Amino acid sequence: MSSLWKQVSSLFFFFFLLITACIPYCLAARIIPDNKLGVMDEINNATFKWFNFFKFTDAVPGSNTSGLSEIKEYLHQFGYLVPESGVNFTDEFDAELQSAVATYQRRLGLKVTRQLDSDTVSSMVSPRCKVKDNSPSSIVHVHGTRHYSFFPDMARWVRPNPVILTYAFNPQHTTDQLSSADIRSAFARAFARWAQVIPVQFEESSTFETADVKIGFHSRDHGDGQPFDGPLGVIGHAFSPEDGRLHLDADETWALDFGIVEAANAVDLESVATHEIGHVLGMGHSSVKEAMMYPTLTVRTRKVDLILDDVEGIQTLYGPNPAFKIDSLPKPTQSASYLPVAQWTNVPIKLIATSLAMVLTLSLPKQ
Ligand SMILES: [Zn+2]
Ligand SMILES: [Zn+2]
Repeated sequence: MSSLWKQVSSLFFFFFLLITACIPYCLAARIIPDNKLGVMDEINNATFKWFNFFKFTDAVPGSNTSGLSEIKEYLHQFGYLVPESGVNFTDEFDAELQSAVATYQRRLGLKVTRQLDSDTVSSMVSPRCKVKDNSPSSIVHVHGTRHYSFFPDMARWVRPNPVILTYAFNPQHTTDQLSSADIRSAFARAFARWAQVIPVQFEESSTFETADVKIGFHSRDHGDGQPFDGPLGVIGHAFSPEDGRLHLDADETWALDFGIVEAANAVDLESVATHEIGHVLGMGHSSVKEAMMYPTLTVRTRKVDLILDDVEGIQTLYGPNPAFKIDSLPKPTQSASYLPVAQWTNVPIKLIATSLAMVLTLSLPKQ
């Protein structure tokens, strides 16, 4: 009887531990959808059509898949594919699409498989800059090992020395998601990163109309022929020198501190600002994933450091800042705080295993 009682109490203790161990995760399961895991719900939103691209993963060349023309539209939007005149894109995985996919993979630094493999589709659904990756008549790649690029004719700001460019925020097109002071500080830091490596200085101006660089938050079609698309998808764009327009998609959830902004689809403003300033100065996109000028940015990721590829590119246009030492470049860092579902589901399993191990230990008969 005593032995039976011990077994029953051990069993009871096991379930007690199991339930106790799972309580935080049961609560987390309710909280996380608004926070980290909710990214899937938010991305799987009708306003973010690129999410549908996942259904084309591993589509076979030569096949015909309903909706595949959307991939062709995407590749067309970023300069990889041109429809035959007057003809809409078809849903056929044809030779032109294979060729465009291969070029996309090369420009994004992906493995060139000519297929819509998972890495390629994942890259396509990532939030990105609207500036085209591929302008065949204009992209200049200097040397085989360099990955940065420029706009046509290596356009840059031509000013007498010392070069000073002014920037200002559009008072009509701002955002109330962040304070004006925080936005100005973030842009000041972003400009400073480029000023550190080239002999160009940036000064904030209170006069928007006459500033060299004009910064604004805009929504959807905003009159410059480069409409934004709502949450995620395209997040910003800028024009080549000496245009100066730098636009951010007002419909994004902008953040400067992911501890404060918990939305799953939050985009780091300072990262995008630093990238778009690169365009304003004349940089095109780079195929180096760690580079500031790489075209995509993962949600909830802060990526603000220039790397050697960015520095060599911008110094090709403006020359080096004499005060800058190449050794002072920080090592590339990318800190994604987004927690994939797969990682989360592993945690309770570990705890269950731990609880079970504890019960087994407690139940072992004494020698
Ligand atoms: Zn860009
Ligand atoms: Zn615009």
